[in-house]
Amino acid sequence: MYNQKQKTMKIRGHHLLCIQSFKGFGYNQDFIDNMYKLIDAIKSSNDLFLHIVAECDDICLYCPHATSTKNIFPKICLKDDNSEIELRKMDLNVINRFNLSVGTKIKANKVFKLVQTEIRKDKDIFKICGSCKWIGICINKHK
Ligand code: SF4
Repeated sequence: MYNQKQKTMKIRGHHLLCIQSFKGFGYNQDFIDNMYKLIDAIKSSNDLFLHIVAECDDICLYCPHATSTKNIFPKICLKDDNSEIELRKMDLNVINRFNLSVGTKIKANKVFKLVQTEIRKDKDIFKICGSCKWIGICINKHK
């Protein structure tokens, strides 16, 4: 669980896209509050690193769709029957698209700007997001 004293935040690949377009929508208030907190830290901190993963991350920790079993990490996404499998594929697609690797630790503000620039250059990147329910909001943001 991320707190401000930490210098590393765990982020799954496809959430590199989600954090670009977040507009306050989410699964419950805890989830939304946590998203704002993490995005603010990513944008404002010069010494924060993102640990890039293809599994549940510091965003999932506050999501009602993540497994709630205590002391078992990483959690698993149970949003739909195949969501963890499908989202891991999406994570890997995004990680590959930005020439990153699972396990990489990279400056948060650097990767945030990299993704922002690449999205503007390549609208096809949203094909990666497939049937995500938030895609309409993201695409509108980057038109
Ligand atoms: S829906 Fe799944 S991948 Fe998305 S934040 Fe919730 S647990 Fe994580």
